[in-house]
Amino acid sequence: MDLKLNYIGGKWVEAESGEKREVINPATGEVLAYTTESGESDTLKAISAAKKSFYETREWRDTDGQTRADVMLKIADLMDRSREELARLDTLDNGKPLRESEGDIDDAIHCFRYYAGLITAPSGHTYEVNAGFGPMHSYTISEPVGVVGQITPWNYPLLMSAWKLAPAIAAGNSIVFKPSSNCPLSTIRLFEIFDEVGMPEGSVNIVLGSGGSVGHTIAASKDVDMVTFTGSTKVGQSIMADAVGNLKKIGLELGGKSPNIVFDDCDIDGAVEWAMIGTFFNQGQVCSACARIYVQEGIHKEFVEKLVKKASAMTIGNGLNNPDIGPVVSESQMKKVLGYIEKGKEEGAELLCGGKRYTEGECEKGFFIMPTVFDNCSQDMTIVKEEIFGPVCAVVPFKTEEEAVKMANDTEYGLAGAVFTKDGAKALRVMKEIRAGIMWINCCQPTFNQAPWGGYKMSGIGRELSVNGIEEYREIKQVNIALDTGAIGWYEN
Ligand code: NAD
Repeated sequence: MDLKLNYIGGKWVEAESGEKREVINPATGEVLAYTTESGESDTLKAISAAKKSFYETREWRDTDGQTRADVMLKIADLMDRSREELARLDTLDNGKPLRESEGDIDDAIHCFRYYAGLITAPSGHTYEVNAGFGPMHSYTISEPVGVVGQITPWNYPLLMSAWKLAPAIAAGNSIVFKPSSNCPLSTIRLFEIFDEVGMPEGSVNIVLGSGGSVGHTIAASKDVDMVTFTGSTKVGQSIMADAVGNLKKIGLELGGKSPNIVFDDCDIDGAVEWAMIGTFFNQGQVCSACARIYVQEGIHKEFVEKLVKKASAMTIGNGLNNPDIGPVVSESQMKKVLGYIEKGKEEGAELLCGGKRYTEGECEKGFFIMPTVFDNCSQDMTIVKEEIFGPVCAVVPFKTEEEAVKMANDTEYGLAGAVFTKDGAKALRVMKEIRAGIMWINCCQPTFNQAPWGGYKMSGIGRELSVNGIEEYREIKQVNIALDTGAIGWYEN
């Protein structure tokens, strides 16, 4: 079985330690591949390569916008050519159903095309300024930030990489990238594509290893000008602390515990199907999962019956066979989710379906959890408060709009939320009241390259995707031009 290597300064290299780590297929528990296990010294080499590329050789940074766009389109074309392979890799090391991986790869390809297009879009502004020092022309230009460190989670392996890499590369930065050790394979393949298109030496580097070592070194290095991170709020906090040394720019896309408010006057069948997507898509391992479901009392019984019927009918199996639900990402994640299920039972939530590991047939050795619905939950329960990141939802009944809004906002997170009603004014009222960065009305989870993504409160800092996504990777420089070249007479003597 081959050993996956770091890509540093344009070369595929093994980590200094000579150690390796297993990448496990969560559907079978088998080893899929080995990755070289890097540490601080490997990471510092990658940072140094990126620094040289940005500040000395300057090749990518000084490449004109149209040429950078052409390279990015070529990357997208090569990703497209490898679409099936990339999707298979995501299903193999993450476990998700193949049709979901295919959707992720298509979005990742479009992300590169989208940012290729934005490179040459006009940017900057001109300003009407006062003339205290004589007439002035004032305007802004955008410049790349410099050396950018990027750290990603395992839940959308290639897609989370694309959300970070495409805008940062488009803006002309040099990158040091660390994927999650659980699911690095498709991103390593993407770096092979970067190599194939001839990205300049040191402009894109990938270092494989643990968060505590590689990730921490990136976040703490004074030679890194910016760090962007997607992952848990806890690690996000440690990255923010690490970044303090040189006050590097940061972008944080963190956890969530998003509410889904279902009113009596909604289309119930539609709301149930979207609630399924909001809870069970990607085995529930979605930062914006809306697995806190507030259901108004008039339809509570009917809604829950329909939800349980659908959840119980879901097919479970190896993602390669396209079931409705695959395994969760790892044994430790499975144990964590099963722990939350036990907590739900202990604290008095009513378990209506699932609630167990699934080991039938081909699932015997994998990390499968049955789709789980808890009913009659309350705000003080752990399964209502904490991010579970598995196929588990908690239904909380409510009476009034005010009560629903209050409970929905009763969380330290603020990533997303959903509201289901046919009353347009109510939908807009509730949408405005929820303190979250993304709101869905009569739908749940759709995400677009063209629209900004990110959270309020402890769900993050900054926005990915859209025009905002590329602006995060740019510095803004204010330029002032005196329209008279002569002395202005401030110091008369
Ligand atoms: P995680 O925080 O455990 O790990 C994320 C990444 O950080 C991994 O690459 C990991 O190796 C690295 N890391 C760990 N410790 C580190 C440290 N001390 N310094 C630097 N890097 C370190 O998260 P995860 O389990 O991989 O992913 C699940 C989490 O990601 C969930 O909380 C989920 O909500 C969040 N997430 C958020 C978004 C979003 O857009 N807001 C998207 C996807 C996932």
